[in-house]
Amino acid sequence: MVNSIYETVRLHNGVEMQKFGLGVYLIKERAEVKNTVKTALELGYRSIDTAAYYDNEDDVGQAIRESGIPREDIFVTTKVWNGDQGYEETLAAFEKSRNELGLDYIDLYLIHWPVQGKYLDTWRAMEKLYQEGKVRAIGVSNFQIHHLQDLIANSKEKPVVNQVELHPLLSQEPLRAFCKEHEIAVEAWSPLGRARFLDEPTITTLAEKYKKTAAQIILRWHLQNDVIIIPKSVTPSRIKENSEIFDFELSQEDMNTINQLNQNKRFGPDPDHVDF
Ligand code: NDP
Repeated sequence: MVNSIYETVRLHNGVEMQKFGLGVYLIKERAEVKNTVKTALELGYRSIDTAAYYDNEDDVGQAIRESGIPREDIFVTTKVWNGDQGYEETLAAFEKSRNELGLDYIDLYLIHWPVQGKYLDTWRAMEKLYQEGKVRAIGVSNFQIHHLQDLIANSKEKPVVNQVELHPLLSQEPLRAFCKEHEIAVEAWSPLGRARFLDEPTITTLAEKYKKTAAQIILRWHLQNDVIIIPKSVTPSRIKENSEIFDFELSQEDMNTINQLNQNKRFGPDPDHVDF
């Protein structure tokens, strides 16, 4: 039973990462980024997911510093963007991200997308950053099973996390099973499907049953599936709502009901058919 916002998963390299955090994609306006991160930290969020691509690392870093919360209590993820992939390019992109964030180290550094012909060289740079202690853990995002197989077969370090699009309409069961077998934690992006199906009758019926909101039902479903979540909201009431999911438990029957909503439906790009 996941019963605290502070609960962590032990990644395969021993680092602890919060199972619940805040995503900050599509928040660019400086004051909004800072207010959002500060609100979340005040409510107990301790993990923040950003990326060089989101163009808000500087304000995320500033909000963290101004919060007064000890650095070691906060878990910061950022990602190397597609155009920066390759060995030297990744090392340079990392330094830029670290400067923007204004942090000595990054907790988790991810390859944002599996750029064909580049991601193995990118990974070698990530391994170097890890060995030098500049990042506490390295992982990937948007990797399919075949990308992971290729990476594992051709590198020293195995990724600790794979962050992928994952929600009730895209439950990613085969990928989750593969990751479990290889001790790779799965993290959901768009865990709420960007609120596109919060009125889905199966979900709203469960919301009534548990006296929770549709968003809370979906987020709880993720946690009970051992999936790390980083819902994004700039709305203080929703930032709070999304964090109030540690005081109830979905029955196995209701978990199965939500599992059955899967349609393998992607709203974002298919990692095998992205024009990098
Ligand atoms: P989410 O599934 O987190 O949904 C965010 C949207 O849902 C926003 O429009 C937000 O509105 C709305 N929302 C949030 N909470 C509620 C609620 N309780 N009730 C109703 N509406 C709600 O989508 P994201 O795509 O942002 O995914 C989360 C994070 O994942 C990103 O912020 C980013 O950090 C990461 N990500 C990673 C990707 C990758 O390629 N690795 C790709 C995409 C995302 P509002 O803000 O207006 O309140």
